[in-house]
Amino acid sequence: MRNVLLGSAALSCAVLAACGSTPQAASRTAPAATGPATPILLEAEAFRDLGGWALDQQFMDQMGSPYLLAHGLGRPVKDAQTMFKATPGRHRLWVRTKDWVAPWGAKGAPGRFQVRVNGAAVAAEFGTEGAQWHWQDGGLVDLAAENQISLHDLTGFEGRCDALLFAPDTAWTPPEAGPAAAPWRRAQLGLPAQPEDGGQYDLVVVGGGIAGTCAAVAAAREGLQVALIQDRFVLGGNGSSEVGVRIEGLLHQKPWPAIGNLVGEFDGSRKSAVACQNPDPLAHMQGLKNEDVRRLKVVENQPGLHLLTGMRVNAVAAKGGRIQSVTAQDIKSGRRLQIGGSHFVDATGDACVGAMAGADFEITPEGHMGVSNPWAQQLGCDCKDLDEPLSKETARTPQPVAFPRCPWAVDLTETPFPGRGKHAGQWEPAGTRNLGSWFWEAGFDRDPINEVELMRDQNLRAMYGAWDALKNVDGAYPDSQLAWAAFIAGKRESRRLLGDVIVSGEDFRQAKAYPDAAFPCTWHLDLHLPDPAYKTANGADPFISRATESAQYRYKGPYWVPYRALYSRNIANLWMAGRDISVTHEALGAVRVMRTCGMMGEVVGLAAGIAKRNHLDPRGVYEKALPELREKITRGVLPPSANP
Ligand SMILES: Cc1cc2nc3c(=O)[nH]c(=O)nc-3n(C[C@H](O)[C@H](O)[C@H](O)COP(=O)(O)OP(=O)(O)OC[C@H]3O[C@@H](n4cnc5c(N)ncnc54)[C@H](O)[C@@H]3O)c2cc1C
Repeated sequence: MRNVLLGSAALSCAVLAACGSTPQAASRTAPAATGPATPILLEAEAFRDLGGWALDQQFMDQMGSPYLLAHGLGRPVKDAQTMFKATPGRHRLWVRTKDWVAPWGAKGAPGRFQVRVNGAAVAAEFGTEGAQWHWQDGGLVDLAAENQISLHDLTGFEGRCDALLFAPDTAWTPPEAGPAAAPWRRAQLGLPAQPEDGGQYDLVVVGGGIAGTCAAVAAAREGLQVALIQDRFVLGGNGSSEVGVRIEGLLHQKPWPAIGNLVGEFDGSRKSAVACQNPDPLAHMQGLKNEDVRRLKVVENQPGLHLLTGMRVNAVAAKGGRIQSVTAQDIKSGRRLQIGGSHFVDATGDACVGAMAGADFEITPEGHMGVSNPWAQQLGCDCKDLDEPLSKETARTPQPVAFPRCPWAVDLTETPFPGRGKHAGQWEPAGTRNLGSWFWEAGFDRDPINEVELMRDQNLRAMYGAWDALKNVDGAYPDSQLAWAAFIAGKRESRRLLGDVIVSGEDFRQAKAYPDAAFPCTWHLDLHLPDPAYKTANGADPFISRATESAQYRYKGPYWVPYRALYSRNIANLWMAGRDISVTHEALGAVRVMRTCGMMGEVVGLAAGIAKRNHLDPRGVYEKALPELREKITRGVLPPSANP
């Protein structure tokens, strides 16, 4: 494991590129007007009807755009379609895509799809070539004045389409369309070169996981005007139904038991005094969907809180060590808003905002915790509705369900893995709960910012390889099918922004007390590394983890982390909450569980109220208003009825 500290001056450029502060790709269907020689750019994510394709915004900072993903678990998804106008005549079709298993040299191109124009499939199949995103030549197509186009998935195995181009000049070749091509995309789409005014707020919170959501609500209940910007359409981050992780950590700890009140409002399970295990994802999923709705309701009913979902922050304007505004891009329409604020909270997990602003941060490039895409099978599949395999209405009448061999997946034909026979993951007895649980984890030595698509795809290859081995080699689960898998990567570790205090594992072990004790930790120093019991064949990336559990990773809890770990040491108006706070790699193992992250948000929201009333910055709250912060922590976030 290596720790690298990147200085802010040096890192600005590096991070600006990584986080997409180069102008981002705009996304919209059909330009308003097309001249005779103008190529027509259609952004897939802006199609009128996405059918069964998933909208994936996760990697737009790296590859240039949100895209559509045929996440069908081996069952082709319904067509995505839209209409567009053109100058009638012959055009060359270009489709931005890739063969997602090519990075491993795997053959078989599982993500194949067709493009159908006015009902007829063009000859080429897409998703069949190239390890990198590129424009695949689709040959010549005759367009009418009004056209209907559809993406027709052929496999259900994660095909992907970013955009399509119809070029009237059939000899023309399109430019590379990564993040640097954003101005070109905007020009093609007729989108404004500059973002629109998105307003001015007391506090702008970026990232709607549990940490950001709690920070935004807490600040709004302090009377602030708050914007909460989230790049998905649900709140909760890893704890949402999109990733399926159960929230852990104890609330209401002494001597400040009111910290945790707001997390409790969001937490339907209310098992705050019990340390729970990771659940069976299927049994858990309906409950999580209800939690998504509950979170949205709390936020939408909160006066003073303006929620922007489906918008990803990909640029920051900062001057003199202060952030002035962030730019958020609508992941469907490509519309961009510039949102100004007096103070900001980076609750993105990846510290996107801080990194773009030039905040000091630390990252562990190798030997860090990995990324998981939890998955679950449906036992005894009857599957009346393949789009809703978790539907309660499904009647159980088991019948055989075939699954194809997956030569392009991680080859687990001869390899043991948790859930196969008597093999089990850590803390789990043998059985089906092992399949797709938390320890299906990859990417420990990969770049945790720029290689996440690869990590996610490796998780999907491991899942398909395991299911192939179980069904087709072992003959297990003949009447079952894969029911659910997260296509959103569940991330555990990337950048950690540095504050005035950097909390270490030793602080936990030695119970180091701070005068600004702010939120309690009760989870052990839980770090993950590849499980040596499960080595993959052919030197492929490890795919099963093991968590630290020995006495050296335990401490006497609760351990109260200081407020000074919740603001940037060199960006004066920036707080952070969630897994990107100021801790070492080791201490992250304890602070990262979600009830704990939510409590950080509570404290940040309370501190933002103090800052606003006293004209202070985050550091000033510690230096000049510590007694008031202590009072607020003692009282906690008030319920909505007690708003000031
Ligand atoms: C498989 C797995 C199992 C785990 N097990 C547990 C467990 O059992 N219990 C537990 O409590 N914790 C568990 N954890 C850890 C926990 O989920 C994370 O540490 C926690 O979710 C971090 O919270 P966060 O709010 O910082 O980030 P997240 O939950 O990742 O939320 C951040 C949100 O911000 C959004 N975002 C990111 N960048 C931008 C941007 N630029 N613009 C707008 N929005 C953006 C993201 O889409 C995301 O929704 C697990 C993690 C994983 C991956």
